[in-house]
Amino acid sequence: MTDRNRLIIFDTTLRDGEQSPGASMNLPEKLEIARALQELGVDVIEAGFPIASPGDFEAVQAVARQVEGVTICGLARCNADDIDRAWEALRDAAQPRIHVFLATSAIHREFKLKMAKEEIVRRAVQGVQRAKQYCEDVEFSPEDAARTELDFLAEVVEKAIEAGATTVNIPDTVGYAVPEQYAAAIRHLKQNVRGIDNVVISVHCHNDLGLAVANSLTALKEGARQVECTINGIGERAGNCALEEVVMAVKTRGDYFGIQSTINTKRLCPSSRLVAHVTGLLVQRNKAIVGQNAFAHEAGIHQDGMLKERRTYEIMQPEDVGLTKTELVLGKHSGRHALREKVRELGYHLDDAQLQRVFEQFKALADRKKQIYDADIEALAETQIHDGPAIWTLESFHTSAGTGTLPMAAVCLAHVDGRKVEDAACGDGPVDAVFKTVERITGISPELRDYQVRSVSVGEDAQGEARVEVEHEGRVQRGQAVSTDVIEASALAFLQAINRLAMRRQQRMNPQTEAVTVS
Ligand SMILES: [Zn+2]
Repeated sequence: MTDRNRLIIFDTTLRDGEQSPGASMNLPEKLEIARALQELGVDVIEAGFPIASPGDFEAVQAVARQVEGVTICGLARCNADDIDRAWEALRDAAQPRIHVFLATSAIHREFKLKMAKEEIVRRAVQGVQRAKQYCEDVEFSPEDAARTELDFLAEVVEKAIEAGATTVNIPDTVGYAVPEQYAAAIRHLKQNVRGIDNVVISVHCHNDLGLAVANSLTALKEGARQVECTINGIGERAGNCALEEVVMAVKTRGDYFGIQSTINTKRLCPSSRLVAHVTGLLVQRNKAIVGQNAFAHEAGIHQDGMLKERRTYEIMQPEDVGLTKTELVLGKHSGRHALREKVRELGYHLDDAQLQRVFEQFKALADRKKQIYDADIEALAETQIHDGPAIWTLESFHTSAGTGTLPMAAVCLAHVDGRKVEDAACGDGPVDAVFKTVERITGISPELRDYQVRSVSVGEDAQGEARVEVEHEGRVQRGQAVSTDVIEASALAFLQAINRLAMRRQQRMNPQTEAVTVS
């Protein structure tokens, strides 16, 4: 592969993706995703916006220190504090990149920044220069580039290159561009910016009009060689360009694009599932590449064709994107080694203690459930990465419910300090009664925004997965748990959300700087 036909995949699931409403992730979750991205073979991981919050800083630093073989990028506005902070987080990375951005469109200049064009150019240059003092790999983004006057855009980009930017990113921040016009903008830069052939042109498209992937692909035809994207296309508002779609489009239509990425496409489906589970943003069934129906053929005529020759109706093979059938994987007598291998294959990176807990849960599950599928193991592995230190744990519960009776629950919780607290409450049903009792014991009464139960695999004895989303004091928290008993799964999921709220409350008692909002 020559540099010219190599597509650089810049993943921003941990930065832009995390800005999806309700998708905030904790540190172990971010690390797990970063490792999955590394295995997937992305070139750059944008791990966060270090100055935005202490949590963001910590995440970028942890990814920079622990994830190898990939460029780790941190975002910064064009000011000294942001850039210094970004470097502090990135300095231990083997391949660090600082990504500085500054808005350039008329509407942003006038209303958001209140800066004239000259001031924008000056700040952009200073930002790139400061970043360059720290590291060789500097990316510059003129925010809202797609709505910026082409001549001014060319001027800013040229100055940023002169100042040392090695990648220039042309974001369609608000998802306003349409393919031909966006391609024309890239062409304009190619023709009018001095030095542009010595740097990588990058694209960052939002999906407000459903055009993020289309816009990114047309830009590739004009010479862009880096695509900024996220797993499952998650991100601010309607999201970003979907990594799996861009990668498979370029691969499947190699005849047209003539470029290649180094993505191990067999890791696409496992990565997609991981991100969906961690963020709680489930993938729609008909989603291209990674949706449940993406390779399902329903019409008889299609099925007939498929049986005769797959290629009659299939342009990609499910195995190519890592889609496996619901297979029976392990049984009651499977050992620790088999489980370890399976967990690895599913894309989870658990330490020995976590594996041991999964093994114990697996054995308990095998007693209750005849057949154990990939999805069951996945669900168990996942609880390990969600689990932070818990303030409250479930000791036991009992519910009674039925037609014509008052639903009641009795719950016993253990506090981390060793005490056990019991209480009971009535509710609209057994689940509601459990939630109310947990609220009484913990003294935290969030508003329940969403509650879902689904089976993780197939069969009457399938495990139920419960997900809750709660809101408390303006913060949204999620909880997720599995059990063959859906009331138990619900109780555990709710308790996980409560624990996260309780942790926040504790953290606030030792106050640190509050979060800055990101564009
Ligand atoms: Zn964005």
